[in-house]
Amino acid sequence: MSALFNNYARRPIHIVKGSGTTVIDDKGKSYLDFTSGIAVLSLGHSHPVIVNAIQEQSEKLMHISNLFESPEQEQLAQSLIEGTHFAHAFFCNSGAEANEAAIKLARKHTSKSTIITFEQSFHGRTFGAMSATGQDKVKSGFGPLLQTFKTLPFNDSHALEEAVDDSVAAIMLEIIQGEGGVNEITPEFAATISCLCKEKGILLIVDEIQTGIGRTGTKYAYEQTILQPDILTLAKGLGGGFPIGAMIGTAKLYESFGPGSHGTTFGGNPLAMAVASATIGQVFNKQFLEDVKKKSVFLVSKLCEILPENQFELRGKGLLLGIKCKEEVASIIQQAEENGLLLVQAGSNVIRLLPPLTVTEEEMEQAVSILSSLVLTAQYK
Ligand SMILES: *Cc1c(COP(=O)(O)O)cnc(C)c1O
Repeated sequence: MSALFNNYARRPIHIVKGSGTTVIDDKGKSYLDFTSGIAVLSLGHSHPVIVNAIQEQSEKLMHISNLFESPEQEQLAQSLIEGTHFAHAFFCNSGAEANEAAIKLARKHTSKSTIITFEQSFHGRTFGAMSATGQDKVKSGFGPLLQTFKTLPFNDSHALEEAVDDSVAAIMLEIIQGEGGVNEITPEFAATISCLCKEKGILLIVDEIQTGIGRTGTKYAYEQTILQPDILTLAKGLGGGFPIGAMIGTAKLYESFGPGSHGTTFGGNPLAMAVASATIGQVFNKQFLEDVKKKSVFLVSKLCEILPENQFELRGKGLLLGIKCKEEVASIIQQAEENGLLLVQAGSNVIRLLPPLTVTEEEMEQAVSILSSLVLTAQYK
C-alpha cells in the first residue's frame, strides 16, 4: 500500500528528467511531453532562462514576507498589466488561490453574493473554487457547498439573460474550458455577457489559469473576444514550471482590497517573481506569440491530414487543442504513452494537446505520426 493518499489516478511511469519537449523515465525511455505538466511548462522542461532565474534569485533571496516592500512584485505586476486595461495585481501560489482572491474581491467590491458560473467549467479544488466549478465529479461528497454560485449552461445566452437579477455580483468563466472538454466561448455568448455586465454593473471574472500567458497565441485569450474582464486569474503557465498564481484587476477595484483584507505567506515571494518575470520575458514578445500562432496552424493542418472528418472534431486555439472523439479516449491516451507520446484527457472523450509553447515543427510531426496509427485503429474498432 502506498504512503500517499489515493486522490490521483497515477499512470505507472516515473519521469526522472526532461529537456524541452522531451522527458525520460527511470528505464531510459523517452517521451514527447504534450501535457507540459498541464499547460504549466510554457518554455518546456529545464529551459536555461528558467534554470538561471532560479539559481540567481535563490542565491540572493528566496523568501521575505509581504510585511516588506517588493519591487519584484511591482515589476511582474507591471509586465502583466502593460498594454491592457488592468491596473493592479495580487500574487499567490496556485490557480485555486487566484480564484479565491477573485471571488472575495468581487463580493467585497459589490457587496453582493451571487456569482454565475457555467457547466463543465473548472476553477480549482478549494472550497470556493470547487463550489464555482460546474462539474459534479469535482464536488461529489463534499457538500454542502457555498451557495454563492449559480451554474448555468455554457454558451446559452437565453439562460443567462433569464438568470441575471440584482443579486448578481459577477459572472465567472473560462474563454476555453480546458478541463471540461476544450469548449470555446461563442462570439454570440461573449456579446451577451458583455452587454449584461455593462447594463447591470456586473463584474466579469475571467479564469485564464489555463488559457493565459501565450497559450492561445495572444498574451491572454480574452484579447481574441470582445470581453473586457474586470478580474483575470492566472497560474499554470505563468511560472514556467514554478508554482505561482496571480489575480489582476482594474483600477476601480483597488479600494476594495485594502491592508488586512486578503493575503498569503508564500504568495509573491522573490523566487516566484523572478521565475515568472523570466517566463514573461520570453513569452510576452510579439515574435514569440506570432510563432505560437504559426505552430498552432501547423499542428492543426497536420492533424487534419490524419483525422477523418466525420469521426473527430478539432477544438481550441493556439497550443490548447482538443480532438473530440466519438468514444472515450482513455485507451488512446494510454497507447500514445506506450508509443512515446504523453497526452491528457479533457472530459471523457476529448484528447487534449498542450505542448510547450517552444515545441518544434519536427516534434509536432512526430507527435501526429504517433497519433495517426492510434486514431485510425480506434476508428475501425
Ligand atoms: C488548473 C486550473 C485551475 C486550478 O489551478 P490549481 O493551480 O490546480 O489550483 C483553475 N482554473 C482553471 C481554468 C484551470 O485550468
